This record gives sequence, structure tokens and C-alpha cells, in this order.
Amino acid sequence: MHPTDLEITDYVDGSLSTAAGTAGEDRAAVDQHLERCPDCRALVADFLDLRRTAAALQLEERTPFRILERGYAIVYDSSGKVLRSADQVDIGDDIAVRLARGELDATVRAKKKST
Ligand SMILES: [Zn+2]
Repeated sequence: MHPTDLEITDYVDGSLSTAAGTAGEDRAAVDQHLERCPDCRALVADFLDLRRTAAALQLEERTPFRILERGYAIVYDSSGKVLRSADQVDIGDDIAVRLARGELDATVRAKKKST
């Protein structure tokens, strides 16, 4: 079973403790899971990326989950790659949108050039 988004985000934040006890076991369990789960490894990478972006934007809130709570979202193409430009998709392509709670499957209907 995959760790929850909240566990992943705690892991990324380092608040999933490395100390002994249950919290440490949680972190070790996530480490073990990441070794064999490319999907979750990709999610950790995306969250780390989101943290760096938040830092660059000087958002005071850098916890990936909280950033999503503020209304930001991460958009992926059908292969699970994070989208940064409308050029990365074509009209009709399936995309996925990760929100603070849940995920949306969507289809690109139109594209607009950035200004
Ligand atoms: Zn997983």
C-alpha cells in the first residue's frame, strides 16, 4: 500500500521523524516503500520541486500540502510528468490535476499562449 499524501508530504518536510520509535519506523517504512515504488518516488520529487518553487516565490508556506491548500495545484501529463508549459500537451491530451484533496482527470480543450 502507498503512503498517504500527508505521509509523503511529512516525509518531504522532514517532520516524519528519523528518531527511534513509531515516527522513525514510519520514515523507515516510507524509505523502504520509495525504494520499490517509482510512483511515490516521483511524487516525492514533485513535492520537493514544489517546495523549491515556493521558496523561489517566497511563499511563507513551504509545506507542499499547505501550498496545495492555498489553491495551487500540480498538473501532470498522461505519463505522470509535471507540466510547466502549454507546449507540453496537445489539444485532446489527458491530464491530471493534483489538488490538496483528491485528483482530477481532465482533457485539454484549448490552449492559450502565455503573455
Ligand atoms: Zn507507492
